[in-house]
Amino acid sequence: IAWNNTLLRDSAGHIIGTVSIGEDITERQKIEQMKNEFISIVSHELRTPLTAIRASLGLLQTGIYEKKPDKLKRMIEIAAIDSERLVRLVNDILDLERLDSARAVLEKTTCKASDLIRQAVEAVQAIADRQQIAFDIHPTDIEVWAASDAIVQTLINLLSNAVKFSPVGSTITVSVEPQIDRALFQVRDRGRGIPADKLEAIFGRFQQVDASDSRDKGGTGLGLAICRSIIERHGGRIWAESSLGAGSTFFFTLSLQQEA
Ligand code: ADP
Repeated sequence: IAWNNTLLRDSAGHIIGTVSIGEDITERQKIEQMKNEFISIVSHELRTPLTAIRASLGLLQTGIYEKKPDKLKRMIEIAAIDSERLVRLVNDILDLERLDSARAVLEKTTCKASDLIRQAVEAVQAIADRQQIAFDIHPTDIEVWAASDAIVQTLINLLSNAVKFSPVGSTITVSVEPQIDRALFQVRDRGRGIPADKLEAIFGRFQQVDASDSRDKGGTGLGLAICRSIIERHGGRIWAESSLGAGSTFFFTLSLQQEA
């Protein structure tokens, strides 16, 4: 707490007391500190692919690869892969910022849960052709009160993680079921699993179980943070359970009907 002291004087200028105003700056400082950390990680994350792109282009400019078409091809490949990564990063960062700002309104309507799941599965099937996504929805007539695009985005993030961290040919199950006053969604994979001490941390920004996850799998470490923001803005909860080597299940809840 920061104290601001003011002396009180009488008409002759004698001190007759003090007024102390205390301001709780801990919360403000915490937010400021989190912002600074975020900016420093973002700068680092953006600088890495940019440096690779600049190095590749620099080498191309020198013309030294004209006689070595293989290396020329590799340089262009690196520049292309890293520019795609930059685009993903910038898009994810902007999505998170938009979700965190109070200005962004999520327009909620009544949505059929099975439609949301079907849209997400279709979007992911393009990248998951080597994998099967089993479709397990019952009952199909559940309706939730939600911003449909944001929930489809959440499901796409969870499903593409399931695909990324599962062996070829394994089954991914997505389901929704009604509970007393809410709908419970589940995305389950039989992949490598997540260590117990990371189950909560992975929902943080730029948190990955393995430092190589971003390089090898093309992730940004922001996908689950975006999911958490979206679900919390719906008043729901999102969490994960896992057993190492046997697979993971991601759960989230949404309101079944319009809030009064
Ligand atoms: P990324 O872009 O790296 O996938 P996410 O925020 O979506 O970022 O996920 C953070 C990390 O959580 C991943 O890098 C991975 O280490 C771990 N993770 C997420 N989903 C799964 C899953 N289904 N199976 C195993 N690990 C997962």
